[in-house]
This record gives sequence, C-alpha cells and structure tokens, in this order.
Amino acid sequence: MAVETKLDYAVATLTDDTELRTPYWRRDTGGEGEAFLVTAAQHGNEVQGCEVIHRFREVCERDLKKGTVYLVPFTNLPAVRYRRPHISLGPEQAYADAEGHNMNRTWPGDPDGNDTERVSHSIHEAAVRHCTRCLDLHSWSKFTATATLTRSNHSLSPQMAAVTAIRFIRWNVAPPPEPDAGGTTITNLFNDSGRAANCIELAGQYIIIEKQVQIGLRAAINLAKFFGMMEGEPELLDGPVLGISDETKDDQHPLEAPCNGMFVEAGLETSDYVEKGQKLGHIISDEDLETVELLAPVSGYLWSYGCRREHCDVALPAMHPYATEGATLATVVTP
Ligand SMILES: [Zn+2]
Repeated sequence: MAVETKLDYAVATLTDDTELRTPYWRRDTGGEGEAFLVTAAQHGNEVQGCEVIHRFREVCERDLKKGTVYLVPFTNLPAVRYRRPHISLGPEQAYADAEGHNMNRTWPGDPDGNDTERVSHSIHEAAVRHCTRCLDLHSWSKFTATATLTRSNHSLSPQMAAVTAIRFIRWNVAPPPEPDAGGTTITNLFNDSGRAANCIELAGQYIIIEKQVQIGLRAAINLAKFFGMMEGEPELLDGPVLGISDETKDDQHPLEAPCNGMFVEAGLETSDYVEKGQKLGHIISDEDLETVELLAPVSGYLWSYGCRREHCDVALPAMHPYATEGATLATVVTP
C-alpha cells in the first residue's frame, strides 16, 4: 500500500459560531513506531518554524520509515493572520498581557473556552492526543541565541535536546503558571504525561531566516532519527553545547555599555564564536561624539548580542540601537 501524506483539518467552532479550520499534514507509514508531532507558530509573530515544517514534510516523504508524523505549521492560525503573538494584543502590547489568549498556556484546550482555547482543543483532538513525541518550534528575538528549551528532570527530554544539535540548551524545570491561564504549555503536556517534548526558540521574529530554517530542519530530522523513524545517525554540532541555567551564571560574561550613545554592531550574530579582545562593536557617544570600542571580555559564544530593551519582541523602540549606560550589549558564554 502506498504511503501518502494526508492533508487534514482541525476544526474549531469559535465563540461567534464561525468555524476555524487549521490545516495539518499526517504521514502514517503503517508500521509501528512513535507518533511525532511538530508544531510551529503558536505565537503568530514566530514564523520561522512554518518553513521548517514545510521542508520537514518533504524529507518525511522521502525518508520516513516508521511511525507517523503530524505536522502543524500554523498552530495558532488566527494569530498568524493577525500578525501578532496572540489575537488579544494591540500594538506594542507585551506577551504577558495575554488575557487567556497565550496559546502555549492553554493545552489541552477547551471547546467552551475563548477562541484560542477552542483552537487548541481542536488541534489536541485531531493531532496532539495521538502523539507520543513533540517538537514545538518558537522564535524569540534576534538578540538571544537559538536555543533548545529542555526539562532537566525528565527521562527523555534532555537526550532529545542533545540531538537537536543547537549550540545552547536552556535548562528549566517547568515554566511558572500564569494566573489567567486555563492550561499548560504543549511541552509540559507531553512531559507530564509519560511522553516527551522539546521546544526550540529560533532567533528572530516576524521574519524567516534561511540559516535558522536549516537549524530547525536539522533538529527535526535528527529527532526523527533518534526516535528510530528515519535511518542514519543524527548530524551533531561541531564544538561544544553550552547549558544556560541559574547554575551556569558564572560562565556568562556580560558586556555593558560604558556610556550613553549609539551602539554599532560589528557584523556578528548570536551563537557566533568570539575571541577575547575581539571587537564586538562601538558606541558613538552622544555627549562628545567620541568613539568607544567594545571588546569581548572572554573567548566564547554569543548568548546575546545587540542593543535591546524589554519587550523588543513586540515593539520597535525597544530594538533601537541607542544604548543607555549600563545596558547589556552582549553576553559571552565560555565553553
Ligand atoms: Zn513562542
């Protein structure tokens, strides 16, 4: 029997009685094995994973040998169409002002809840509940390095993180509950129910960057190999994988603005390796127009890079390169 990739829809009835049809792909090899869910764009401005899934589908058509994949590129389709993290947010409103519409606090969803909870519920019923493994693709701001977020106290999640082949792993136990949330994150849903999940934060929002897509695609393929669904060994990273947690603070070396002025980057990106003393950029002082060079305090990898302030994930002024004295302009992590 020929194995086909099937297009299907998770159908939610919204509060105004209209239907929201979320498309997804399912490819079932008919053989035993894991049911692997890949989701993207739970937050409507975090769009890089959409293309990761689009390409992963092509790889699955060629190489999937066991089990089933469920691929949901537009998990929060209303928020994607709205072009903001949640459908409840107005211009420059912070993620935290979700009012119950942060999709990644709604799992397993609620058919009688708000519109976001209804969409979650429809996807849960159509796909999530059938799956044993999950990769949830997000994007955070370009100022923080791509990272795999991993539950440290879980039997499988840390092993999965190691095969994502991403430079930084951020360890956490479980995210704090939000007071207005009716559910949990999709990764918690899996990790708390004898299944396993990881989240990847690709670097850069409101944009799809080829390099990031390739990083996400390699992670998805490596996980499928790790789960025994594809043949071959995972393609791992050259060089060290660096852990980020409260316990690893001593490895993190921030570089602070010595004065007010315009910060000019030196053409680097997060995750880049820098040598101690390498130029990371300069500030044009708005006091006396002097140039102040900024040098890497140690050799290591850039965990953060660039001038930004809180809410740079929703507001352009927070991405402005005018630095105030003491602002963190880079964080170098030593291997
Ligand atoms: Zn997100």
